[in-house]
Amino acid sequence: MVRGFVFVITFLVLAVLEVGAQVQASEEGYSANYAREPRFRALVAYTDRAETAHVEFAEQGVEFFRRLNYGDGFYLDVTTRIDSCTYDQLKGYDVVVMLNGSPSTAAGREAFERYMEGGGGWVGFHAAAYNDARTGWPWFVKFLGGGVFHANNWPPQPAKLTMDAPLSHPVLRGLPAAFVAPESEWYQWSPSPRLSPDVEVLVSLSDDNYPIGIKDVVNWGDFPVVWTNTKYRMVYLNMGHGDLEFFDATQKLLFVNAFRWVVSRSPGGDPFLK
Ligand code: ZN
Repeated sequence: MVRGFVFVITFLVLAVLEVGAQVQASEEGYSANYAREPRFRALVAYTDRAETAHVEFAEQGVEFFRRLNYGDGFYLDVTTRIDSCTYDQLKGYDVVVMLNGSPSTAAGREAFERYMEGGGGWVGFHAAAYNDARTGWPWFVKFLGGGVFHANNWPPQPAKLTMDAPLSHPVLRGLPAAFVAPESEWYQWSPSPRLSPDVEVLVSLSDDNYPIGIKDVVNWGDFPVVWTNTKYRMVYLNMGHGDLEFFDATQKLLFVNAFRWVVSRSPGGDPFLK
């Protein structure tokens, strides 16, 4: 009985302290901003008809975005059929994430082009940007900064990455000036997207890595790995090969930052301020 009484008193004292803290906080401006409803809409797209390492990345990627959505901070849809998404469907999303592929049909490409030209958001990983002479989608190459797939290291291996943009850039917030990223197949592009006046390179593979590779060796060359085409609300990240891409905290922070930055510039306003 006495124990119960002490418990109740303790509870009341804590409740009063809690109210007091909130009053003080509201006078100074509350430090947090809790969502009252899902803040935005995201579509995560991938194909299960790709090489094993790209499917492994995509499946872990879906799980990564599901975890980001714990507590229903946003509406999350997942599709393996990006080609069948119409413009009217895409325009309902603040961001489309492509984990390991891009539209391959005329209709799918047209819908995506219209979506991006109309202010859509895109976060693309690794093979989502792969293109070569057979891809036949000039708009997409320009969207990505003009580069065509040129070379890669093999096997996948870790690499030292350096930040190109100021660390105050929202995509690089909280990151060190350089870090060693987990093993990946790194794509080099030609011409380098850095040469495009529309591109801002955010992260590059450091020259310190050269020569990189055991079987297939890349010896030199400009090697951007994360960039944005400033004409669009987009970020491309070259990571995305295999099942070891989601274990490194620094790399995961980079992924969260990139996703958050694209979403934060939604035409309807920054949903994180809601
Ligand atoms: Zn790959």
